[in-house]
Amino acid sequence: MKSNKKTPAMKQYWDIKSKYPDSILLFRMGDFYETFDSDAELTSDILGITLTKRANGGASSVPLAGFPYHAIDQYIDKLLKAGHRVAICEQVEDPKKSKGIVKREVVEVLSPGTAISEKYLDHNQNNYLASVFIKNKTIGISLMDYSTGDFFGGEWDLKKGLDLIKTYDVREVVISEKQYESFGHLFNDKSYIMSTYQNWITSYNTAYDKIISQFKVKSLKGFGLEEYPLAIITAGACLYYIDDNHKDSLGHIQYFKYQGQEGSMHLDPFTIDNLELFKTVSSTNKKATLIHTIDKTRTSAGSRLLKKYLKRPLFDNKKIKLRQDRVSELIKDSDLRSTLSDLLNEVFDVERIISRVSSNKTNPRDLINLKNSLMNIVAIKKVIKKKHLALYKLQKEFENVTKIINEISKTIDEDAPVNMSNGGYIKDGYSKELDRIRGLSNNSKQWLIDLQNKEQKKNNIPSLKIKYNKVFGYYIEVTKAHTDKIPDYFIRKQTLVNAERYFTEELKDFEDTILSSNENLVRLELSIFENLVEYIMLNSKNILKNANILSKIDVCLGFSDIAIKNNYCRPDINNKQEIDLIESRHPVIEQLLDVDDNFISNDVNLNAKFKQIAVITGPNMAGKSTFLRQVALLSIMAQVGSYVPAKKASLCLIDKVYTRVGASDNLSEGESTFLVEMNETANILNNATNNSLIILDEIGRGTSTYDGLAIAWSIIEYLHNNSKFHPITLFATHYHELVQLANQLDRSFNLNIEVSEENGELLFLRKIIKGGANQSYGVHVAQMAGLPKKVINRAHVILKKLIVDKKTNLNCKDIDQLELEFNSSVKYDGINEIRDLDIDNMTPLEAIYKLKELKEKFDD
Ligand code: ADP
Repeated sequence: MKSNKKTPAMKQYWDIKSKYPDSILLFRMGDFYETFDSDAELTSDILGITLTKRANGGASSVPLAGFPYHAIDQYIDKLLKAGHRVAICEQVEDPKKSKGIVKREVVEVLSPGTAISEKYLDHNQNNYLASVFIKNKTIGISLMDYSTGDFFGGEWDLKKGLDLIKTYDVREVVISEKQYESFGHLFNDKSYIMSTYQNWITSYNTAYDKIISQFKVKSLKGFGLEEYPLAIITAGACLYYIDDNHKDSLGHIQYFKYQGQEGSMHLDPFTIDNLELFKTVSSTNKKATLIHTIDKTRTSAGSRLLKKYLKRPLFDNKKIKLRQDRVSELIKDSDLRSTLSDLLNEVFDVERIISRVSSNKTNPRDLINLKNSLMNIVAIKKVIKKKHLALYKLQKEFENVTKIINEISKTIDEDAPVNMSNGGYIKDGYSKELDRIRGLSNNSKQWLIDLQNKEQKKNNIPSLKIKYNKVFGYYIEVTKAHTDKIPDYFIRKQTLVNAERYFTEELKDFEDTILSSNENLVRLELSIFENLVEYIMLNSKNILKNANILSKIDVCLGFSDIAIKNNYCRPDINNKQEIDLIESRHPVIEQLLDVDDNFISNDVNLNAKFKQIAVITGPNMAGKSTFLRQVALLSIMAQVGSYVPAKKASLCLIDKVYTRVGASDNLSEGESTFLVEMNETANILNNATNNSLIILDEIGRGTSTYDGLAIAWSIIEYLHNNSKFHPITLFATHYHELVQLANQLDRSFNLNIEVSEENGELLFLRKIIKGGANQSYGVHVAQMAGLPKKVINRAHVILKKLIVDKKTNLNCKDIDQLELEFNSSVKYDGINEIRDLDIDNMTPLEAIYKLKELKEKFDD
């Protein structure tokens, strides 16, 4: 293809392609979009379309794969989902009128982070583009969901900022070419693609001007952005990037919200995964996530907002209280709940409609849906009364959009079609001109009948007919027998064997009017539609504001539903660095248990002054991890404004929740599990504050016993003794030696999970009790799991040597000897089994068999 003798079309293709090397170029050729060369190989692979070859001039040929133009939407979605950028190159002149090769241009570049097609997007999920700029270990980030108009950002420490990108649903990261060279390696997540823009865009002044011109303001003071140059650079660059790809369609980007690291709880990606907020890690049950448990929203926008809340819970008592107040008011008023529920169920995704309106990808149905949704907002405003103090405050913020509703109502037909190509969607009575044209085409049949009658009578030819065909249009047909009666104003059009065909000036005028009236009709409807779209865009700020308020109400309504259904309580937020929970439960697990399997609630009392570190021991499967996560989940739920699963709850504000699990399976390339575990732990010890909540589950498990124990021990000491911070910590471990720490560290104490042992079997009671567990029961659990009896006996002996006799230099002969002793000491005691026998109800044969079985057990 690099041959010099290219065909003109291929030459044009390569010229254009050279400007979009990172995109798959869809090259319009007549009724097809074609891709060539490596693009063709990719598309044929992703779309499953045939790969062929096209002559490229000279001897060479080039791989080719194409699809019909009308299938473009579905194919683009697939390419974007596969993580590719797509440039659409159209024929920009009429091929019939062009001399030589038809002119082509790229009209749009689509990328995963800027897509708006409904087919591509997940309704309940945001689709963010992240624009980044790094300087001196600080990163500016702006996140834009082009499909909803959501736009926010700020500055973060580099590590936290990178975490943030992982936390949000980012599909594309954009960075300047220069920064890409230095920092590109930091963005290595497979869930998004990287894009670059030219370096000049990152000039502070350029970015500043871009933002103020976008929002039509004089300065950025009102955005709280002035002090954050890196955030400004990224916000400006983001706007430039979108502008470049989607010319003139930034109208729905109406605000930029500054969101720095303050004011919110920080959750790193590991914690988000480990607490299974959005995805399950351990279970295959997709419902075993916090989001699934608490998302009872009725709208897609509400569901997206809740996810945003959960990624960044509040760290502000006032704001939390406000959300709680709204939920309380809803809980108290069942009528309000059910009315709101009905109204919200009928609301469409207003944010996404507005983004389609802004990018000229809307249709009349969208506008009807928009209108109906806005009407529901008016109804919602009416049902929230003054007595609902907190909700009323929110309700008052709704903007008046009656004019927009009226405008859409009077313009667009309620049953408008989605397809606009044949018109028919503007209401009768909206435009006199439109009505007149419609009248013409509706009356045309009658008009033709009238004309036929008139000419028949006038010329005394009863068989005269007016007919139509595609080639000749309208004509008057007269059989040969009557041609002598033809008047002067009949003009001959065609002669057949038995008849003559004519037209008249009157018929010609009619034909012109009818043909042009259909075209005019479509054109006129389109221009009315475009005016309406423009009017909507002028008011889009108010519409989006209402949509946002609506989502907030939706989230609170969902919170009230789960609070009632699952019996949650309103948590008190204290400023005493204390977590005090009465009868608390794990929100997700309690929902997943079978009906006859009750979740056992537990009390929790932790405080930085006296009970800072809880060391939790207990056998495997006792419920340690569940208990640990339960505490973290309740803090998170409280800080998003939800009620929590407990009888009573008082929680302090947490700035960061850290959870780390020993020897987890998340092996990152080349690093040992233990190294990962230690890296994660180091990160906590370096970044925790007095307000953090630390959950450590079996840390140290990933290495040899003594190393692990030593590390676990010194981590607890450090969290207790360092002079900088004393975060509340829950540490689950199977190292019983750690129990001794409670005697040595003032603010550390022991908890264990009650188990009872009956006839050598473990019973998990799931109750947290004070004190350390006196034995690990690991061997018991192994026994329950069905390990061979021989292995279990041997393990008991080794355990005794290791723990009871504190002997560490084991050798096999010693153990053999001990095993003999052990086996003789644990001879089977079948007395209970004999007592339990119901001899009266046994047949003699059964009794004999039982006797035989007991004898075998004694012999064993
Ligand atoms: P551990 O961390 O001690 O090994 P887990 O926390 O993984 O134990 O819990 C083991 C099992 O016990 C889980 O499947 C969980 O569903 C169940 N479980 C834990 N806590 C409770 C509880 N309080 N009530 C009922 N079931 C529980």
